[in-house]
Amino acid sequence: MGTEMIYRGHDSQTPSHAYTPKPPKPWLSSVSRAARYLVREQRLIFVLVGIAVASLLFIIVPKTTATSYISTIHTATAEDPYRIPSRTLQPYHGSSFGSAIMNPTGKIPLGLKRKGLRIVVTGGAGFVGSHLVDRLIARGDSVIVVDNFFTGRKENLIHHFGNPRFELIRHDVVEPILLEVDQIYHLACPASPVHYKFNPHKTNVVGTLNMLGLAKRVGARFLLTSTSEVYGDPLQHPQVETYWGNVNPIGVRSCYDEGKRTAETLTMDYHRGANVEVRIARIFNTYGPRMCIDDGRVVSNFVAQALRKEPLTVYGDGKQTRSFQYVSDLVEGLIRLMEGEHVGPFNLGNPGEFTMLELAHVVQETIEPNARIVFRANTQDDPHKRKPDISKAKELLGWEPTIPLRKGLPLMVSDFRTRIFGDHKGRLRG
Ligand code: NAD
Ligand code: UDP
Ligand code: UDP
Repeated sequence: MGTEMIYRGHDSQTPSHAYTPKPPKPWLSSVSRAARYLVREQRLIFVLVGIAVASLLFIIVPKTTATSYISTIHTATAEDPYRIPSRTLQPYHGSSFGSAIMNPTGKIPLGLKRKGLRIVVTGGAGFVGSHLVDRLIARGDSVIVVDNFFTGRKENLIHHFGNPRFELIRHDVVEPILLEVDQIYHLACPASPVHYKFNPHKTNVVGTLNMLGLAKRVGARFLLTSTSEVYGDPLQHPQVETYWGNVNPIGVRSCYDEGKRTAETLTMDYHRGANVEVRIARIFNTYGPRMCIDDGRVVSNFVAQALRKEPLTVYGDGKQTRSFQYVSDLVEGLIRLMEGEHVGPFNLGNPGEFTMLELAHVVQETIEPNARIVFRANTQDDPHKRKPDISKAKELLGWEPTIPLRKGLPLMVSDFRTRIFGDHKGRLRG
């Protein structure tokens, strides 16, 4: 019984004619057949030439496309600050988040469309921020503006409302915020003497800390808009980035100056200590459409005064100097800095230097030849002179301003006229 239970299946499975697998084809012969095929009729040469041509296109074409785009967009903004170019290709040199098809050299294979980045602009409802947002949206990125409207205005961004690539968040940067982004342009800070006396130090310190914490968490690249005020009342002229400045730490301007200096320190701390990719711009006096009309800055004051037929208020003896940069030049510099490979700091300003009396004369020439000039007491700790040395930005970012004061000033007049008098009166006076 026990023996009958023994499994005998293997006996029945044994075929009468045992299977003998075919001997493997000699692989050498098939390889050599393929090789012979390749060399016949100069096929190999054609393949190699094809690869070389494709590689050349891959290397050269994206570079030239990107360069021509930068100059296209720059020319457009120089001529008309509100004209947004229709092309959306821009070289990518950026970071990590959600950008899988990009590579660090900024080259995108032919036929692949550049994937838009997700970018936060803090202070994006302000003067500089809103122009920056225009450029980023125009090139195809998604932009999140974080602003508490302390000095900014929704009107500066209203033309983007309804665009799915645009979001506006009312938020004070001194409070933490969670976002997922590739780049952070950190501009939020009251920038005019009238406004910055309120709390720029807290905004610059705590706000910058929060934005750096955000950059660290999501691996975003972070750009700080610092200021020429870090040089204080400079003892070196023109100011080079290596100059450490001459700031009164307890003066009326120190809340702004020292706030920005601390923001620069925090930025470098996060760069060195937490490997955050950072960029620092030191912005010199900038003007253009959408400046706050009554924020006390000299260009907005003079332009508004000339349009209202009021006297131009020159503080002190009017011999102090500043160097004035048109806003589209600045925006070009900020984008080049963010996309480039250098941390900075970089001076971004126009080296054309004017005394305040000379500026008043340019405003008279441009808007109202009969405008009177009146002298007022100067403010405390007013820097005597200021002029950027921009050699570093020229060399490493390939950037320099293109719009001189006499060309830029007329570009802001119609915007100011419309905002002061409204459309109808503006046209009547025009
Ligand atoms: P702006 O006042 O027009 O814009 C600043 C924006 O930041 C405003 O929209 C304001 O509402 C917002 N903001 C302020 N505090 C905030 C907070 N706590 N949370 C969120 N949003 C806040 O000034 P601007 O001229 O456009 O300046 C932009 C940046 O450039 C500032 O950081 C400024 O320090 C720097 N900067 C400007 C100049 C210049 O001449 N315009 C010169 C040097 C540096
Ligand atoms: N932070 C933020 N958003 C983030 C990450 C951090 O607002 O996505 C804030 C956070 O609340 C903190 C600051 O950034 O106040 C610094 O963050 P970090 O992680 O560098 O420092 P820690 O929280 O460890 O002190
Ligand atoms: N200023 C002036 N008249 C004004 C406003 C400002 O003469 O109505 C002077 C001011 O004293 C300073 C210069 O213009 O010397 C630039 O002032 P602003 O506040 O525009 O910039 P910042 O001092 O921050 O460079």
